[in-house]
Amino acid sequence: MKQTKIVQKKIETDILIAGGGIGGLSAAVTIKENNPEAEVLIVEKQTAGYAGKANKGGGVLQYFDLEKTTPMDFVAYHANMVGCYLGNQNMMLKYVAMNNEMLDKLEEWGVKVPKNRIPTGPMTYMVGVDLDITLQVRKVAAKLGVKFMDKTTISDLLVTNGKIAGAAGYNILDGTFYEFNSKLVIMATGSQNYRVASMWSNGRGDGIAAAYRAGAQMRNPEFGNFSQLFRVNSNRECVFGENVMYDAYGENITKNFRRFPEADISSSAVAEWYNQVSAGRGPIYLHIDENPMTSNEEMMLHAWERPYGLRFWEIDFEKASTVDKDWEVVPGFVGEQSPVKVDEEMRTTIDGMYAIGDLSYGGSAAPGAVPAPPGRNRGSGILNAVFAAIIAGRNAALAVKQTSQQPVDTAQVKTLKENAFAPLFREKGITAKELISQVQDVICPVENSVYMSGHRLESALRKIEQLKPLVSELKAEDLHDMLSCHEAEAMVLCAEMQFRGALMRKESRGWFLREDYPQMDNDNWLKWIVCKNENGTMVFDTEEVPIDTYPIQPPRF
Ligand SMILES: Cc1cc2nc3c(=O)[nH]c(=O)nc-3n(C[C@H](O)[C@H](O)[C@H](O)COP(=O)(O)OP(=O)(O)OC[C@H]3O[C@@H](n4cnc5c(N)ncnc54)[C@H](O)[C@@H]3O)c2cc1C
Repeated sequence: MKQTKIVQKKIETDILIAGGGIGGLSAAVTIKENNPEAEVLIVEKQTAGYAGKANKGGGVLQYFDLEKTTPMDFVAYHANMVGCYLGNQNMMLKYVAMNNEMLDKLEEWGVKVPKNRIPTGPMTYMVGVDLDITLQVRKVAAKLGVKFMDKTTISDLLVTNGKIAGAAGYNILDGTFYEFNSKLVIMATGSQNYRVASMWSNGRGDGIAAAYRAGAQMRNPEFGNFSQLFRVNSNRECVFGENVMYDAYGENITKNFRRFPEADISSSAVAEWYNQVSAGRGPIYLHIDENPMTSNEEMMLHAWERPYGLRFWEIDFEKASTVDKDWEVVPGFVGEQSPVKVDEEMRTTIDGMYAIGDLSYGGSAAPGAVPAPPGRNRGSGILNAVFAAIIAGRNAALAVKQTSQQPVDTAQVKTLKENAFAPLFREKGITAKELISQVQDVICPVENSVYMSGHRLESALRKIEQLKPLVSELKAEDLHDMLSCHEAEAMVLCAEMQFRGALMRKESRGWFLREDYPQMDNDNWLKWIVCKNENGTMVFDTEEVPIDTYPIQPPRF
């Protein structure tokens, strides 16, 4: 039955954290460790500890043997081979240097971090943690006095005179509308994955949209197009499968795009799939027995003691081998746009607001020319979230002592409430499911999002433009549906940002691949694309990458 009366409540706290995945939880613990007096509230739309991505997937953490590889060695490798000079090298240096500290912290917070390490890329190893990682950190946070509100979503941010004043949100079970007053806000709401790949489905971009609407600047929005090879029936991801791709006639096609070992899948693997299939040489198969990394099962199941993971992957692998009788693969869109711009202290462009983890990995510019996570840097997703959380948490713990609560504009709160609940009171219109499906139809095709051209991007953007008016026609049956409406709105916004950004970047660099501009253009495109909401208009600009201040530079420098 539709709700007619909205109960409204006000909640005050020193620091509000939106999102209770590994990033939000780690930030909360860090704040309490550094300032036990600070009141910290985590607001999570699912249930903190069970929600988020860290407990859905591989749980593999990147490990650097810093006695053999210096942080600078890795930064040089990364800048040359992965980030292609578009990365903030200071951030990457700091991330690698903090590797041992982060693993120690996780252990201190009750996460079992195994000691046996498996080599991955040229300079990295990995260690696997179990699926209870976030539950362990939630337990520590609760013990330190962090408060939790589960099943409550943050729909918008409250900003007064350019400074954060709190947030607005609602409980998705009973529909109570909340005005949160807080001195500081840490956004930890994850990336945009458009509800396409099921294991990534919590990345719905509503935190990105809230930050954008509040006026926060975005950076690298065009890098939201990660794709992976998937088996066709089970939709099981095939990590490292790009190393053993064959066409329907038994020809090895990996050799067409990969001439030396690389750390992870590249967009050229996706383009190769597209070109082969377009030329009638599909379907494409993996010969997994040619490379021990490609089947992945041995590593996921038995390399580390992970009882919860073991059960999960046994079911997953069994299902895959039952429904997929061969190794036919297709590239599947994953997304991972993470564009909220932050500086090296994880501060957004809104005073008093930080953004961490998957929400701002791309916006931090640390990974360079690649969608992140994992940013062709396997095992960096969880650790980047912990890294950003420790930095933001330490800063917030100090800053809160010198920050006073900004006045809240009650008219703004009223408008945000009306906007949030509008779909529930609409009798006619489009459902969230219908709108999301139409966005997916535009964003998913490889030729729109990964192997791009000006013509195809313009056509994709036109389709998204046609969907924009439908946002104000979204209708919801209940509160869960209302949340889906807000997520659908965020998907339209993120897709627009991605296509507009991609149209601007007239070159190919790293993961970013334009058929019509196949070369990397260091003369014109050592730049970050930034964008911002200015009175309802999405305004784009560029920022020079300060490449001459970084240790590693492209050949012409
Ligand atoms: C299948 C899979 C496999 C992976 N494998 C690995 C791996 O092996 N190693 C690795 O390092 N990384 C891996 N990753 C990536 C890694 O899990 C993420 O990078 C990391 O967990 C991000 O943490 P986060 O806290 O920033 O975001 P998330 O984990 O996405 O957490 C965001 C939280 O915010 C909540 N939220 C969202 N919007 C709102 C809102 N409006 N209001 C309130 N709450 C909100 C969400 O419900 C969620 O709980 C994998 C991810 C997936 C999906």
